[in-house]
Amino acid sequence: MHVVFIGAPGVGKGTQAQRLREQRGWTVIATGDLLREAMALGNPLGVQAKQYIERGELVPDQLVNDLVEERLQAVEGSFILDGYPRNVMQAEQLNGVLQKHRKPLDKVIKFDLPEEVLIRRLSGRRLCPQCGAVYHIESNPSRLGEQCENCEAALVTRQDDSPETVQRRLQVYAEQTRPLIEYYEARGLLIRVPAEGTPDEVYARLLQALGK
Ligand code: AMP
Repeated sequence: MHVVFIGAPGVGKGTQAQRLREQRGWTVIATGDLLREAMALGNPLGVQAKQYIERGELVPDQLVNDLVEERLQAVEGSFILDGYPRNVMQAEQLNGVLQKHRKPLDKVIKFDLPEEVLIRRLSGRRLCPQCGAVYHIESNPSRLGEQCENCEAALVTRQDDSPETVQRRLQVYAEQTRPLIEYYEARGLLIRVPAEGTPDEVYARLLQALGK
């Protein structure tokens, strides 16, 4: 199954993708995680991406397109693209790459959540800097408190989850990413999944949407 996850920042895409990876062995290609990894390594991609990510802007298309194509070439079996494409240009580019590698999309999952809930989710989000696991202080806390359950690293708050940057990210989502809903609806690929409730509740809806 070849799937794209679309949704505003804070909607829970990463948490759900993580579950499909753990429970079904699907490959997750999350451009935000890959870019943060590059930033942590301080490599040329990371250095270029940093200025955009810290402002809540999208990183230039070419940088993420190349990153995703490299991953897609290597992937075997089911995959989820989490946080990519983020605009129509990227979606067009993705079409070409998937055609070339004969891995057509099966479904595009759009997670729906009201804006006030998104903001609450983002402000309580905690991230493992080592394995990328995502927690929430209220709805999905780590059993080890401020440490990651998988690798025991100290959890951190993402720098771009600050209130000002969150506002900008939501605006960028509305302007650039939301048009993808119509784009994929027109291609008969879009399925909406309500994202309120616990991660378990959303996961159950997601499996149903995927026909699992
Ligand atoms: P995320 O973890 O998906 O919320 O992404 C964090 C940040 O990484 C975004 O605010 C963007 O700056 C950058 N980013 C992630 N994915 C993309 C993408 N597909 N295109 C451009 N920038 C991206």
